[in-house]
Amino acid sequence: MTPASQQSYPQILWTNESRILQVALDTPLRRVFDYLPPTRTRDVPALGIRVLVPFGRQRLIGILVGIAAESALPAGKLKSALEFLDDRPVYDPVTFDLLRWAAEYYHHPIGEVYAAALPVSLRTGQTAFSKIEHWRVTEAGREQLARPEARRAPQQQALLAWLTERQSATAKEIRETFKPAVLKTLAERGWIAGQVSESPGELASLAVLPGGLALTPAQAQIVESILATRSRFGVHLLFGVTGSGKTEVYLRIIAAAIEQQAQALVLVPEIALTPQLVDRFRRRFSAGVAVVHSGLTDRERRDAWRAAHSGQARIVIGTRSAVFTSLPKLALIVVDEEHDASYKQQEGFRYSARDLAVMRARGAGVPVVLGSATPSLESLDNAASGRYAMHLLPQRPGAAQPPRMSLVDLRRHPSEQGFSTPAIQAIDQHLKAGGQVIVFLNRRGYAPSLFCNACGWVAPCAHCDARMTLHRRALKLRCHHCGAQAPIPAICQSCGQALLAVGQGTERVEETLARLFPDTPLARLDRDTASARGSIQSVLDRVHSGDARILVGTQMLTKGHHFPEVTLVVILDADQGLFASDFRATERLAQTITQVAGRAGREARPGEVMIQTQFPEHPLLQRLIAEGYESFAASALEERRAAEWPPYSRLALLRAEAKDSLGLDTFLRTAAAAAHGLDEPSIKVLGPAAALIARRADHFRAHLLVETAARSSLQRFLGRWLPLVDALAGPPGLRWSIDVDPLEVD
Ligand code: ADP
Ligand code: ZN
Ligand code: ZN
Repeated sequence: MTPASQQSYPQILWTNESRILQVALDTPLRRVFDYLPPTRTRDVPALGIRVLVPFGRQRLIGILVGIAAESALPAGKLKSALEFLDDRPVYDPVTFDLLRWAAEYYHHPIGEVYAAALPVSLRTGQTAFSKIEHWRVTEAGREQLARPEARRAPQQQALLAWLTERQSATAKEIRETFKPAVLKTLAERGWIAGQVSESPGELASLAVLPGGLALTPAQAQIVESILATRSRFGVHLLFGVTGSGKTEVYLRIIAAAIEQQAQALVLVPEIALTPQLVDRFRRRFSAGVAVVHSGLTDRERRDAWRAAHSGQARIVIGTRSAVFTSLPKLALIVVDEEHDASYKQQEGFRYSARDLAVMRARGAGVPVVLGSATPSLESLDNAASGRYAMHLLPQRPGAAQPPRMSLVDLRRHPSEQGFSTPAIQAIDQHLKAGGQVIVFLNRRGYAPSLFCNACGWVAPCAHCDARMTLHRRALKLRCHHCGAQAPIPAICQSCGQALLAVGQGTERVEETLARLFPDTPLARLDRDTASARGSIQSVLDRVHSGDARILVGTQMLTKGHHFPEVTLVVILDADQGLFASDFRATERLAQTITQVAGRAGREARPGEVMIQTQFPEHPLLQRLIAEGYESFAASALEERRAAEWPPYSRLALLRAEAKDSLGLDTFLRTAAAAAHGLDEPSIKVLGPAAALIARRADHFRAHLLVETAARSSLQRFLGRWLPLVDALAGPPGLRWSIDVDPLEVD
């Protein structure tokens, strides 16, 4: 296999000597492939076009990423590319460079990276641009028209005459009057000639509609300070409590930034969960707002891509992969909820869209705004060190007050099916006062385990080292790790006694609430209720309309909703995150609590938040309640520094899985030995260690953790080490991957 270092290309110069095309193909190989230009082609249009090439017995579409004078292959072995599919690049130049950089940084096969940035229909060869052909009569055609014997072909004659009179017509116009065969014949004989021009490439006009709010002084100052530096790269961390008016700030700076014939990119964690944000953009900008997310059909995706690439879309709002949208006139990037884990792709090409957004802004020389009520510790550290500019919105505008938070000690207050007495009373009071209530629990299903009181048997997943979750409504046991399903056993599979559902999932919480508050309409939002298309929207609608008074849900609830009537949030179980092994677990917990809490009291009604816990004296909870997220973050950063975790170190995780656990272990040990043999003193390679779920879907899983102080040494080390790992023989069916800047390390 080719070393990863071959992923950097020579300076691109197109001369008569440089005839080798370097093509990135959508294959898992960490290299580019060399081809000669298509025979009979004189000019190579540009880097970044799509090329059709022979590959073994197939034909593949790749991206032209370089041109070289020489190939490592002998001249006789080089094949010719079959065809250039574009006459202009299908990436804007900044994104073209960004993708190459990303392939190197994440050590991912370059062809897969370039493919990931295109809609599927473009990867499979559909035209990138809407083309219009204009046909004219040629000199030969005029001569033909004058020839008397031509009358024997009246159709052809008629078209020539018609076109001579009109001077030019599109193929579509011609086909309205003549048979396509006639057009074809005349073209073949050279009597008419077509010229292809693109659909208009100008930016769509855009009006900012009235309806903006009068900014608060704090908002106005932030807008002004970001706009003052809008013509150059800079990262702006907008740290504003939930409901403080961050979105209003985005709208203002975008309006100003794109006014001068430019485009903006807005990244959000999940579109389905934030219809209100898209709505606000659509209401503020007259046209030209394109939305890109995973729920689109191929065709919708291609249309959005074309709109962005041609300038018809002035604002693109999208999830993670939208960071690669071609936007030739990009003037500003916004990353909303920048801390959100969904910005990191967790399989295949494991990029962070937030980090790539920053790189893209740097490449384009434009500002990027990272907004959050709970910024990641990385971003806070970047702000503290002056690399990012920090902007604070510590208060909600107008009457809205921050919610009152309290801890409920579950050891003193026994709970009934997960609800403590104070929580039940509070729900009752808020409902009676006309408020809505959110009940948060980050576990879907009915109960996380099915347990035998007599012998201790717990329903296991047959394929994982994990328990099955009971889903009562679906009448199934489901494994949340591999997706396996099984019928619910009537009795203990070990001793035959009756079984007990232990613990709480959202489904059970909903049932309990229905029993405690029989006259109160409920809604539930989690991955089980949201799986059908449109069902998220209908749940959100029921909450907005006030029809549902209690909303039960998982972390899907935390993302940016705005429910004006919610006055109480109950967090049923804060303890899941307190003692987890992952170094980011407490950061996640603090973010989740703060975000859920932020759903309470967003307008005139004051909000209240109750957090149930077995450990009310835990310093993390204490600090969060008493001093807020910022104070929590400061102390969490101190812990990270002491333990040398990111952002005070750099990590990469080599994950591997195989059915043969011994072979897996040998592979990882050999890989670790290869790393130690490289003699890079600044690099620590830890492991092999088993993954938290040590067996999933019948595969054993383990990893090596690479740790170092500096990005540059990590990059250099990976560049040397991964080719060695590539060359190792592993057990049959071995799969491994490298995750640079992993979010989770277990
Ligand atoms: P965030 O994005 O920080 O959650 P939003 O921009 O959604 O905050 O604002 C929260 C609420 O405050 C919304 O109802 C919004 O209309 C309102 N709001 C925002 N800015 C102002 C302002 N300058 N004056 C009055 N209300 C505002
Ligand atoms: Zn039993
Ligand atoms: Zn499983």
